[in-house]
Amino acid sequence: MTDRPASPGLATNVEQASRHLERFRSAIVPHFIDGRAVESGDARRFLNETPVDNSVLCEVARGSASDIDTAVAAAKSAFPAWRDLPGESRKRILHRVADLIEARGDEIALVESMDTGQPIRYMAKATVRGAENFRFFADRAPDACDGQALPTSEHLNYTLRQPIGPVGVITPWNTPFMLSTWKIAPALAAGCTVVHKPAEWSPLSALLLAEILFEAGVPAGVANLVHGFGEEAGKALTEHPDVKAISFVGESKTGSAIMAQGAPTLKRVHFELGGKNPVIVFADADLDRAVDAVLFMIYSLNGERCTSSSRLLVQSSIHDAFVEKLAARIARIRVGHPLDPATELGPLIHPRHFEKVTEYFRIARAEGATVRAGGDVPAALAAGNYVNATLFTHANPDMRIAKEEIFGPVLTVLPFDDEVDAVAIANDVQYGLTGYVWTSDVGRAMRMARTLEAGMLWINSENVRHLPAPFGGMKASGIGRDGGDWSFDFYMETKNVCMALGTHRIPRIGA
Ligand code: NAD
Repeated sequence: MTDRPASPGLATNVEQASRHLERFRSAIVPHFIDGRAVESGDARRFLNETPVDNSVLCEVARGSASDIDTAVAAAKSAFPAWRDLPGESRKRILHRVADLIEARGDEIALVESMDTGQPIRYMAKATVRGAENFRFFADRAPDACDGQALPTSEHLNYTLRQPIGPVGVITPWNTPFMLSTWKIAPALAAGCTVVHKPAEWSPLSALLLAEILFEAGVPAGVANLVHGFGEEAGKALTEHPDVKAISFVGESKTGSAIMAQGAPTLKRVHFELGGKNPVIVFADADLDRAVDAVLFMIYSLNGERCTSSSRLLVQSSIHDAFVEKLAARIARIRVGHPLDPATELGPLIHPRHFEKVTEYFRIARAEGATVRAGGDVPAALAAGNYVNATLFTHANPDMRIAKEEIFGPVLTVLPFDDEVDAVAIANDVQYGLTGYVWTSDVGRAMRMARTLEAGMLWINSENVRHLPAPFGGMKASGIGRDGGDWSFDFYMETKNVCMALGTHRIPRIGA
């Protein structure tokens, strides 16, 4: 929230970003289908703006059902060869993908930052994580088909896993590059072919990834990219009979729509959806570490983060002191240009999302909450979608600011008295993605872990990912898990083979 001079790194980053963006400015951002950059069949396009000042960055191909058809046909014809390639070969290719992501890491981070408004300090790390995702699943590609042996006295049951076929991957705009790699890497490692439909508000890094995949040796047709709107290209992908599964990250209501769209073709779906995640701080916690984690989990990544801890449940006895500490730090959060290395909070993705987030400033006041920090926009940055880091206090669990996903740098504080009270408040939302518990009482931490309705819980920690661990939500936050072997379970069919030892008695009829 501080007005401050830009740091020296900004000019250099702006200059480098312009260099990388030049190619997008001078030519339309194409689809990438069957190993080739192509325009839409009907040549339609849409404009892509930067959240920094909402100026136009480039024109993007606007995919239709017919472009999706072309991409799915390519994925279908590439599938048998990719499926039959030895896992060791897929492993080598996917490690090359990671090498190339690392080699083009600065470019990806700078482009992503300008396209999404996410601060460069986080996008640089997200790029590293993108490469890690490929390495992790590359290493598991050779074993992905392994099954189990389940013997009985007269039969041997054994299982095989086989890639399900061409799959659709639909991603959101909040950390597009990292999230795309999180979905595409296991699909390719499993032996599936992919059609990716990235979010229309952040299309650029998807093209960089498509180019990298192809350059690394992923054969033509194995990884395809179609840009466009959810209701057009996205919908067509989810309805396509040759697409065997849809891996989707986005809003809960879009998940419902996709489930309905995919029903006639019995689509397998994996959903990573919204959240209104509680961070619960007990008086016996290490409060200094808790303050750091609470701030990080709501104000990093512009608060546009599915796992953000957007509800702070704090024990009444420490409420005032804890809020005081938060407010002091929030006042020093550096809002600014996303390419400034010092920036901690950049502009929100799009004017429509800006309107949604700032509408909650009005709602909070109308509901009778106190705006303890922020709740406004930084005057010096009026051209872009900037908001100040915001803290609502004197809220109650029934308010909209305590129930609805705002998806911005906005934290609602709710006091609680004891463990039972905390669990009741925490679970009283439609979502169930993550929860964070701060306490020094181990028994309480384990009791909370049982009763909180969330797919992922962190005790005395912010969100720290471990790729073999399952990632996903309960309730309206999702269906299915990613990570480790869970990802392969989604992208593969498990087949059971039962072999007789020749000794069992076969029931005889008509004998
Ligand atoms: P969104 O649902 O509006 O869009 C996501 C994607 O779905 C976009 O590519 C969009 O074009 C496409 N889409 C929209 N309508 C469609 C339809 N009818 N058929 C097929 N595709 C369609 O979400 P968003 O606003 O881009 O992203 C923010 C949301 O994503 C938040 O709710 C956030 O919590 C969620 N998210 C969840 C996770 C997680 O892991 N649980 C991670 C990141 C983001």
